[in-house]
Amino acid sequence: MSAAMPAPLMPTYAAPAVTLVRGEGTTVWDDEGGSYLDFLTGLAVCSLGHSHPGVAEAVSTQARTLLHVSNLFANQVGPEVATTLDRLLGTPGWADGWAGAEPRGRVFFANSGAEANECAIKLARRVGGRGRHVVISALGSFHGRTLATLHATGQPAKHEAFQPLPEGFRHVAWDDLAALEAALDPTVAAILLEPLQGEGGVKPASAAYVQGVRRLCDERGILLMFDEVQTGLGRTGRWFGHQHFGVVPDVVTMAKALGNGVPIGACWARAEVAEVFEPGDHGSTFGGQPLAAAAARATLAALVDLDAPTLAAAQGERLAAALADLPGVASVRGMGLLLAAELDGLASKPVADACLAAGLIVNAVTPTALRFAPPLVVSDDEVDRAVAIVGVALADALAGVGP
Ligand code: PLP
Repeated sequence: MSAAMPAPLMPTYAAPAVTLVRGEGTTVWDDEGGSYLDFLTGLAVCSLGHSHPGVAEAVSTQARTLLHVSNLFANQVGPEVATTLDRLLGTPGWADGWAGAEPRGRVFFANSGAEANECAIKLARRVGGRGRHVVISALGSFHGRTLATLHATGQPAKHEAFQPLPEGFRHVAWDDLAALEAALDPTVAAILLEPLQGEGGVKPASAAYVQGVRRLCDERGILLMFDEVQTGLGRTGRWFGHQHFGVVPDVVTMAKALGNGVPIGACWARAEVAEVFEPGDHGSTFGGQPLAAAAARATLAALVDLDAPTLAAAQGERLAAALADLPGVASVRGMGLLLAAELDGLASKPVADACLAAGLIVNAVTPTALRFAPPLVVSDDEVDRAVAIVGVALADALAGVGP
């Protein structure tokens, strides 16, 4: 396993128990040669598995061709990625060989999920204008660690040490339409929601809630913005999580899976919304630069080729069913390959630790639930092996035997 070497790093993360040095597909190796099935994939990042050859080749070719240009110049890669994202976000006819239709939206490239959400928040303020700047999000949500996205994050305990946070954020109970409606007033510019709360415990929204939110937004001229940083790009069994609910979004943010491990985020908005931005309103030195965009182009090409949402839906069903059968699991929730097993009276952290010791990476997403987010290309055999490891860890926990 081997702990990380002492190094002059800020203590923002709990000290890791394992140093990883290599990855391939669903497997990662530590610095002592130990191997692990990675059922977290860098927290839902490497959907194609680790060290995907197509992404590696694209990054290496691009690095030797043109690594970076400033935003004073165009590059050829970012616009291609933007076009693909627009199509995946539901340009009518895409599934039937879409060609030639006008893109429905516009994309801003960032470098992370929080930055993608910063763009969405600034866009909401720009659209709303002075006096109409409030963004409502849900309790239990997670939207990032910058000051604005931290305040959008509906976890008050995380706010305390950093007060005063930027003004203009309001939180309402998750999946409660009446609570949301009660919080609306003329200062509200946008509602920002995850279709399924990831960090908050893998909690899907109900269709009635999301459809009700869309209706309220339409009635009051409020933007509906989905944070799909964790749920986007196939993971839930659709290209985007909100597509399960049959609603049309105004803004969608994404990051994690977009570069299969290369840092890139994106904020997509309906064209009429996005065009409120003017040159100088927003920017990023690295956002949309050729290297990250080349990784995203290769990632999207592979995800489309594999029909990633179908893989996620099929393997998600298999994993959920197998987990639900294990003694010690009370219930399984989630969508596609973003799942949580709620344990039956057991603490999740010791079970996650036991899994790690036995060669499986999962995480204790709440004190009583384990999260599973394997690569979308995970095989039947890998699912079976992972479930077997969880089964032994749970049996030991039930018998009072710990790691
Ligand atoms: N939004 C959601 C839904 C997330 O899950 C995360 C990260 O876990 C973020 C935003 C922040 O992304 P990043 O860590 O890339 O800034």
